[in-house]
Amino acid sequence: MTYSAFLRCFEGCPGEHPLHAAFYRCPKCGGLLDVVHDVEALKQRGARRWIDLFQDRRVDGRYPYDSGVWLRREWVAPEVGDASIVSMGEGATPLVKAGLLGQRLGLEQLWIKQCGQSPTGSFKDLGMTVLVSTVVHAMRKGTLSVRAVACASTGDTSAALAAYGARAGLPVIVLLPRGKISTAQLVQPIAAGAKVLSLDTDFDGCMKLVRSLAESGLVYLANSMNALRLEGQKTVAFEVVEQLGGVPDWLVVPSGNLGNVYAMFRGFELLRTLGLIEKLPRLVAAQAAQADPLYRAWSAGKQEVAPVVAGETVASAIQIGNPVSAPRAMRALSATSGVVEHATEQEIADVGARADQAGLYVCPHTAVALSAVEKLRGRGVIGVGERVVVVSTANGLKFTDAKVRYHEGALSNVVSRFKNPPTELAANEGAVADAVRALTGA
Ligand SMILES: *Cc1c(COP(=O)(O)O)cnc(C)c1O
Ligand SMILES: [Zn+2]
Repeated sequence: MTYSAFLRCFEGCPGEHPLHAAFYRCPKCGGLLDVVHDVEALKQRGARRWIDLFQDRRVDGRYPYDSGVWLRREWVAPEVGDASIVSMGEGATPLVKAGLLGQRLGLEQLWIKQCGQSPTGSFKDLGMTVLVSTVVHAMRKGTLSVRAVACASTGDTSAALAAYGARAGLPVIVLLPRGKISTAQLVQPIAAGAKVLSLDTDFDGCMKLVRSLAESGLVYLANSMNALRLEGQKTVAFEVVEQLGGVPDWLVVPSGNLGNVYAMFRGFELLRTLGLIEKLPRLVAAQAAQADPLYRAWSAGKQEVAPVVAGETVASAIQIGNPVSAPRAMRALSATSGVVEHATEQEIADVGARADQAGLYVCPHTAVALSAVEKLRGRGVIGVGERVVVVSTANGLKFTDAKVRYHEGALSNVVSRFKNPPTELAANEGAVADAVRALTGA
């Protein structure tokens, strides 16, 4: 059996376009594109036999099947052969039950999907392995010639592209908003040898510039407007269903440019098409109140998302005012009875600190999602016994600056209610013993 996939207009224009060429938008209407699989071919294998195949590969565990993305390669990028795969064991991340934190937020069943436990520390690796592998495949076939792959980034996309590009020997160019990403994120592409253009603008400004570079053919575009990225990201849905042993009632996604929430929808939708699940989870797109164009549109009952100028937020990876995948997100929400929620800087800081104190060391974006959970639970939208999965999008270790400032009480406009600064004292036995007594109530 051969499996195949192609690009199709998201808005419904007729025609199919190959994955192995530089298509980012519909040539007819300029709209977004979807990767569409030959599901009839996939269905012929049957749900049970797919599960068995993946199980065998997992037991084997050899490259590239140590990757959660390539484990299910027929569902993701069926035409990319072994020799073109550029993988670093991405995906296959833990789904952690957050019992104590769940209790504190009023939930019996809260789970965290740890997508930040990944080669470059964010879920962006899932999409980038597919994009870079497909580019390598197309270059070998001779259907694509690429001088450089490029992206605009709020930090994590560039870290992932730089690493996967370096692995593949592809030149990488990244456009970053100067002063708006964490040190850890900035140093990742620099260390990987990418050419970093640090620009005096915000993410939306960088995005506009990289799109015009791509349109003029100077670079190959690696932002999530490129539908290939979403193919890798959708594997989170496959893993969640497997690890939970079923479909959660809610899946909560920190959302900025809005590609990932749609990728989740596409993943669950494929599982349903193949007969592996019957219902879809309700999706929650969680935004920072400082950068919440989707929240504003959704709350006003509008289908069109009007751009805003994104204000500064500690959740810097979602500091986006003009999300490219807004129409995709709207479709995902309407197909899943989804909800949009937002969180203020104070709410992000509070719930982030409480999550950390339950042992989770969350990134600020995950805190945005947790705040959304707390608010939806508080209003009774999410029921006490419902199964809730929060997609943790990045590793907390990338956001040391923000955590240090929180515990120093130095974040502007935020009260550090749960701060836990170190006690400084002389290194003598009496003083230390007194301190321990005071701290333990002895
Ligand atoms: C990219 C990113 C997001 C947002 O994903 P979108 O697809 O842009 O909505 C959320 N959190 C982190 C940590 C990210 O890097
Ligand atoms: Zn079209």
